[in-house]
Amino acid sequence: MSTPIRAIAAGNWKMNGTVASTAEIEALVAGLGSEDPGCDVMICPPATLINIFAQIALGSRVEIGAQDCHANETGAHTGDLSAEMLAEAGATTIIVGHSERRQDHFENNETVRAKAEAAWRAGLKAIICCGESDEQRKAGEALEVVASQVVASLPEGATPENTTIAYEPIWAIGTGKTPTAADVAEMHANIRTTLNKIIGDTANEMRILYGGSVKPANADELMSVDNVNGALVGGASLKAEDFLGIIAAYKD
Ligand code: PEP
Repeated sequence: MSTPIRAIAAGNWKMNGTVASTAEIEALVAGLGSEDPGCDVMICPPATLINIFAQIALGSRVEIGAQDCHANETGAHTGDLSAEMLAEAGATTIIVGHSERRQDHFENNETVRAKAEAAWRAGLKAIICCGESDEQRKAGEALEVVASQVVASLPEGATPENTTIAYEPIWAIGTGKTPTAADVAEMHANIRTTLNKIIGDTANEMRILYGGSVKPANADELMSVDNVNGALVGGASLKAEDFLGIIAAYKD
């Protein structure tokens, strides 16, 4: 019998936030207080804010993560940041393979796998994102596409401790559209089975997050779907009040 998976609500701020946004982290820390919210909580701000947010969140229930890293530790990679640099700044986790990175920066599964390995090399955890496009879903290819992304993006050595998977249908990101609970259940079961094939029973302990237009109003329903072990939240993580509304889905 496997232990229940502790969920995580992870906020991806994308390219939003300045030093003035420290007020939101302060409000999140204060809103959570010391009582167990029933899930882990993380904010991934732009890299410029990781250090200041990590200092504010120190000793609180909020972890700070990063949104991307380069696969190498050092070198001639203008504008890039290594996992080691992000760890030094205070990140505990790095999101890799977000669909915006895959689209805007032409990242493929191989790049994503190397970035997840880089996170581990720096002693950090990786959140590996996957998800189908609207065309792929309409063509009935969603399950196959996502399974093949998971197979090709997951490095050897992945464990529930060092890796989380985030399923984010591209068409649901920032659109206000969400899949039905039945579609989420089908996809998360598909990901679990795929992980089982790669890493065996240990995959039963690995977190699989849902992401795509999660809001306080739909969090209860989406977070109670089988094999959904938390949320990766974009827009609704920018305001502490909204994010706390999502985290509330995990209160007893
Ligand atoms: C995301 O980009 O990770 C995301 C889920 O965005 P949103 O919640 O705004 O759809």
